Amino acid sequence: MTLRIGVIGTGMIGSDHARRIQTVLAGASIVALSDVNIDGARAVQSEIAPDAVLYSTGEELIASPDVDAVLITSWGGTHAQYVLAAIAAGKPCFCEKPLATTADDARRIVDAEVAYGKRLVQVGFMRRYDAGYRLLKKVVDSEIGTPLMVHTAHRNPTVPEQYVTPMAIHDTLIHEIDVFRWLLDDDYVSAQVVFPRASRHSHAKLADPQIVLFETKKGVRIDVEIFVNCRYGYDIQCQVVGEEGLANLPEPMAIVTRKDAKVQNAILTDWKDRFVDSYDVELADFIQAASRGTAAGPSSWDGYVASITSDACVEAQEKAGQIIDIALPERPSLYN
Ligand code: NAP
Repeated sequence: MTLRIGVIGTGMIGSDHARRIQTVLAGASIVALSDVNIDGARAVQSEIAPDAVLYSTGEELIASPDVDAVLITSWGGTHAQYVLAAIAAGKPCFCEKPLATTADDARRIVDAEVAYGKRLVQVGFMRRYDAGYRLLKKVVDSEIGTPLMVHTAHRNPTVPEQYVTPMAIHDTLIHEIDVFRWLLDDDYVSAQVVFPRASRHSHAKLADPQIVLFETKKGVRIDVEIFVNCRYGYDIQCQVVGEEGLANLPEPMAIVTRKDAKVQNAILTDWKDRFVDSYDVELADFIQAASRGTAAGPSSWDGYVASITSDACVEAQEKAGQIIDIALPERPSLYN
């Protein structure tokens, strides 16, 4: 059976996921498209999914009997309304991060899914599907003893002028927030943000770099350097220090050259290239689970926890140096 997918939001990531489903992955087909910018949906129809039907609203697309599952890739502020509509219709949905832009909306989604009684939502935290992180998790789980500390960095060469301090949490750190919980099978109890000397490449509305310090329930300390004007490349680092040894996230594959008395390899510069393979794997997982009428991978609960944690981190930015407690409600058994 081919899973019939409708896409809401046909911008950058929506059109890329549509291409992936149409040309790379098996088991699914794009049958419906919707976007407030109808020309964008039309372009995806003509270039990627000629048989797809255009819907004027996301709600109509979700309600269509021709749509089995939904991809929500519109602007973040619209995700909650579409996820709630998909749950109400009993249709599996893949929602790009963030699940919602407020913790209250994310909680509403969790409650609706729990009331439905079965998982229907996968959140687009694709790092869990990255081959490097998966290898790292295997080693952390089996070879280096109990994890004690994690040293990490998220560096971008530059960011657009409109990128301001809180975006370092909502747009950048959000992936780390999710992936460390999964990597360590743990939750956060507090966050603190400290600001080193600012880079001259930043501007008045962006404190860059920043260091976020987490403590987890199990007592692990995690430091994350966020440096979005680092100039030299897009560089994701993660080192887990355990009782018996340490493990590093592998570097992306790159050709090493020896020339002019130098050994060199290129560093990526575009974030889109770093996790490109993981998008294929996460959507393959979505197609498999949605074909069985359910969802796998990062859940609404994970999206909700990410939202609570982001809010605490933004507060920690505003109260630089102060330790902000992160209190999580009890996890419903649906997510155990
Ligand atoms: P984008 O290029 O701006 O595309 C978003 C599209 O949604 C635009 O065509 C926009 O139309 C449309 N839209 C806005 N409001 C809508 C509504 N109410 N109903 C239907 N469509 C609506 O943005 P993007 O970069 O693709 O990002 C989309 C989402 O994916 C964001 O939440 C982002 O955080 C997430 N994302 C995740 C990753 C990842 O690595 N996991 C990477 C990139 C993006 P207008 O342009 O007319 O507003």
